[in-house]
Amino acid sequence: MNKQFSALNKIFDSKQSFVITTHVNPDGDAIGSEVALALMLKNKGKKVTIVNQSETPDHLLFLTKLFPVRAYSSKYNNLILECDCFCVVDTNSPKRFSAMADVVAKSEALKICIDHHLEQEAFADLYVIDTDVPATCELLYKIFQSRTSHVITKPIAEALYTGIMTDTASFRFPKTDSETHRIVADLFMYGIDQYKLYQQVYESGPINKLWLLGKALESIQIHHNGKVAAMILPRQIFKETKTTEADVDNFTSYVLSIKNVVVGLVFVELQDGVKVSFRSKGNISVNNLAKQFSGGGHKNASGARLKNISFDDAIKKVLSATASYV
Ligand code: 5GP
Ligand code: MN
Repeated sequence: MNKQFSALNKIFDSKQSFVITTHVNPDGDAIGSEVALALMLKNKGKKVTIVNQSETPDHLLFLTKLFPVRAYSSKYNNLILECDCFCVVDTNSPKRFSAMADVVAKSEALKICIDHHLEQEAFADLYVIDTDVPATCELLYKIFQSRTSHVITKPIAEALYTGIMTDTASFRFPKTDSETHRIVADLFMYGIDQYKLYQQVYESGPINKLWLLGKALESIQIHHNGKVAAMILPRQIFKETKTTEADVDNFTSYVLSIKNVVVGLVFVELQDGVKVSFRSKGNISVNNLAKQFSGGGHKNASGARLKNISFDDAIKKVLSATASYV
């Protein structure tokens, strides 16, 4: 990793203009990583723009007050084509920023990828990927600490903390270890208000999100001798509760909370396909299951988007493929 860190630091020092992006439907780790990296580069006098395929969800908008996050449209193409360095954080798959993938491929900018997911795809000149860390923000903390001068400020610490808190589900997921806690302890030294950050992410939602959760919990089905639980969210549920798929946040923890269930699935009917979230306990590699549907992610947490298939057929197909994993 030291070799990659030093290559990355050379790029941060030598290039002048940077465009940063992340995956579709960004989470706290995605936006936190972008904002932390953008602030570090801006503080070094670099020109930096964050452009994302998706809008920032409401519960993360506070991070965009630390650094603006733009929604992609073709008016950003020139910026992507002309920047010195294009940085992708928290994903290593161009499919996950598909709206701008073509223009990124055409751009002669140096492309770098900072991430913690398995099975990187070919698009970047430099990959800094650590699949052992629970959050890209933890990797970024290590990158920042590897620089010769001190770069972490309070806003950077706030962005990093948000990413680590959300991607570990508040320090509960298996990859959370003593190093994660040591890093977070260090972030406290920069004066972050962890309770305020927690409240902004988890205690500032609209009532509609709870109505959606209520219907989502009622939809849970048990399959494969009690080992698989599936939450089913057709478009109708979003209409009834005046919510969108961006409001399906952390619902996966409920499907895994059931005794004897080892694989949890959440099906969301999209305007143009089906989003499936895969979660597992222990040694079950749901990233391989997600791969069967052109998705991916981590061993215990993966996702996929299915196109050109009805909602019911997608559910049937995924449930049937799940059988051999349990
Ligand atoms: P979620 O189910 O919460 O959207 O995603 C779980 C994990 O799988 C995340 O780490 C996410 O980055 C990854 N993931 C989600 N959807 C996709 C997808 O369509 N393709 C790939 N390669 N990874 C995904
Ligand atoms: Mn992440």
